[in-house]
Amino acid sequence: MIRESAYPTEPWRIREATLDLELLAQSESVLALSNGHIGLRANLDEGEPHGLPGSYLNSFYELRPLPYAEAGYGYPEQGQTIVNVTNGKLIRLLVDDEPFDVRYGDLRAHERVLDMRAGTLDRTVEWVSPAGQAVRVRSTRLVSFTQRAVAAICYEVEPVDKEARVVIQSGLVANEEVPVTKKDPRVAAVLEEPLESEQYLANGAGGLLIHRTKASGLRMAAAMTHVVEGPDRTVVSTEAFPDWARTTIACVLKPGERLRVIKLLAYGFSSQRSLPALRDQVGAALASARLSGWEGLCKGQREYLDAFWDAADVRVDGDPEVQQAVRFGLFHVLQAGARNEMRPIAAKGLTGPGYDGHSFWDTEMFVLPVLIYSQPDAAAQVLRWRHATLDLARERARTLGLKGAAFPWRTIRGHETSGYWPAGTAGFHIGAGIADATMRYLQATGDEAFEREVGVELLVETARLWRSLGHHDRHGAFHIDGVTGPDEYSAVSNDNVYTNLMAQRNLLGAADAVLRHPDVADALDVGEEEAASWRDAAHAMTVPYDAELGVHQQSEGFTRFQEWDFEETAPDDYPLLLTHPYFDLYRRQVIKQSDLVLAMHWRGDAFTPEEKVRNFAYYEARTVRDSSLSSCTQAVIAAETGHLELAHDYLGEAAMTDLHDSHSNTSDGVHLAALAGAWLGLVAGFGGMRDHDGVLSFAPRLPSRFERLDFSLLWRGLRLRVSVRPDEVTYYLREGDHEDGSRIDLLHHGEAVTVRVSAPVTVPIPPAPPPQPEPQQPTGRAPVRRGAGQVAGD
Ligand code: BGC
Repeated sequence: MIRESAYPTEPWRIREATLDLELLAQSESVLALSNGHIGLRANLDEGEPHGLPGSYLNSFYELRPLPYAEAGYGYPEQGQTIVNVTNGKLIRLLVDDEPFDVRYGDLRAHERVLDMRAGTLDRTVEWVSPAGQAVRVRSTRLVSFTQRAVAAICYEVEPVDKEARVVIQSGLVANEEVPVTKKDPRVAAVLEEPLESEQYLANGAGGLLIHRTKASGLRMAAAMTHVVEGPDRTVVSTEAFPDWARTTIACVLKPGERLRVIKLLAYGFSSQRSLPALRDQVGAALASARLSGWEGLCKGQREYLDAFWDAADVRVDGDPEVQQAVRFGLFHVLQAGARNEMRPIAAKGLTGPGYDGHSFWDTEMFVLPVLIYSQPDAAAQVLRWRHATLDLARERARTLGLKGAAFPWRTIRGHETSGYWPAGTAGFHIGAGIADATMRYLQATGDEAFEREVGVELLVETARLWRSLGHHDRHGAFHIDGVTGPDEYSAVSNDNVYTNLMAQRNLLGAADAVLRHPDVADALDVGEEEAASWRDAAHAMTVPYDAELGVHQQSEGFTRFQEWDFEETAPDDYPLLLTHPYFDLYRRQVIKQSDLVLAMHWRGDAFTPEEKVRNFAYYEARTVRDSSLSSCTQAVIAAETGHLELAHDYLGEAAMTDLHDSHSNTSDGVHLAALAGAWLGLVAGFGGMRDHDGVLSFAPRLPSRFERLDFSLLWRGLRLRVSVRPDEVTYYLREGDHEDGSRIDLLHHGEAVTVRVSAPVTVPIPPAPPPQPEPQQPTGRAPVRRGAGQVAGD
């Protein structure tokens, strides 16, 4: 896992200084642009060479059969796969008849920059064609945050020293060929020619393609137009065919002259709207993009991002790599969520086809905790999407013989599409994650309309699921048997602590919500008896504990299982899921990702500090981190249990997941949960932020390399800023943001603190408790050291 970053450390930019074709697919994900509705991989303008071509629309998917060698009752029969939609980013260039292709001629300079404040991907190239003609090319691409259906590219060419004949071919291409994928369960199925043409049109400086998927019945439109600035004799024409449209722009450029083409792109899709309606929709989007013009689109982009960074930026002094990486993580989280508007957030956002474009529990348990405190509206939209899929989740519960709603383990549209039930259907904890995010959102915002329209029903239906999935034994204890917790190297176990504690909060949260909203409860048919049964189950919830070892059991019986022989496991055997049968993993004490440790974060109120220390040491020694969802949680709990340098190591690992391609599959898309995890590691780890039961608390403590850590949170409409130095912390509400008299009550290391506008509070950080012995990781699985004196790569 020790890797160098391919991108130099700069606070606000991710810069690819030269073009390395080996890293092309990785860079296409890292430098991808998205607004949560449209996603464009950072494919080169001219389309080739590519790692993986990719243009996506959130929730535009195709169905495919899920064949089983041995089928069983309740197995989902159809899969859903994100479609690589019509590529609108294609701009080919011909210089005196020679196609511009970085593999030929002399590439004197090639730089790409993802500018996280401007929201653009900038490319500058100097290329000499095989025939000796030198040109400079500059392109800037954006996917608009302010105009959801719009993307745009500014493409400029100039000859370096002698007159050149230049032709630009700007295209829309449907059904691009996608490379065959590797044998890895984490990649996507390849759909061949998923789009059927319905209409095509060429119109002067632009064109339009309308397609439909064959099985899912979704219709999409992609349209383009161009604003051309070139010398007097510049000719422009467009032609269109079922799967492609092409605008050709030709001119002769003298040295000092430049051809500038602004390509405006619009995308739309629908399962219901007619072809003319969709055609008009993209036409309107292009008209509004034209009205703004390139400069207007760039200005809107920057203003949107200025507001975002003003609310969400995290400042880290002392580790510039982490500084860059946490901004990179926040930028991708924003890109995935910003304009989702009642759509899911996929595990890869819209940066690649990995995991078929599915959304998992990653959304509610990793991504939403960041959005709730920085872009609460985007968080609410995702939960509204879950709510919109409730009927499907209720139907799934019925199929499984359960009550309430069983949300899908992985999905695009809301149906369960996991073909492997021990790690899919049995991962019922996703329901508690949705309930948890709902409660967290409500606590942080006090959004009553949301609670009435969406929140209560989500809590009630998930609580019903737990009540029917679990049972009281003859002594009255409540058990939830046969479920899979977060650790996917264990499956179908009884009383998984994470699941049970999260279900407990879900049950109590639902019972409280129906008390607050009796009319909504009536409409949902919740009687007093039902709500009382939720409380009974919650109070009788089983939490397995091994008294002999003095630690909690991840699930009943876990600490009795055979130990994994880490000494005998070769480094190349990781990730174990690719080299060992699940059967072998399931019956041993080997942990893919934080599970019990995750319970100690989100249900930290259910453990004593001593239990946390002992549990952390025990589970550290057995956790291999084969999932990118692990290290951020280990950072949070390492910090809480006093292992600040280890927390720093884990934070670095989470933050660097994609910049270092540490799981060797960033090519399929970024790891959004890990990127969100960088924020969690800083804010919940070193900031010690928790909000159990609506009480906002902090317990800041910095690792030795950090000189300062600043972050902000939106809390009930107020923007709280927290500035942590090694010995003290300042909490404040910025003047001008709030009315006089606004206040936040919080806990600082357990002491009550009230923060008012214009009255910042500075408090000392109490002395650290005596150090604990350093936890040990499995042989060869310790994280890369970043702590004092141990800079990454040493
Ligand atoms: C993890 C799951 C996660 C999924 C998608 C798997 O490797 O084990 O917890 O939901 O990836 O990110």
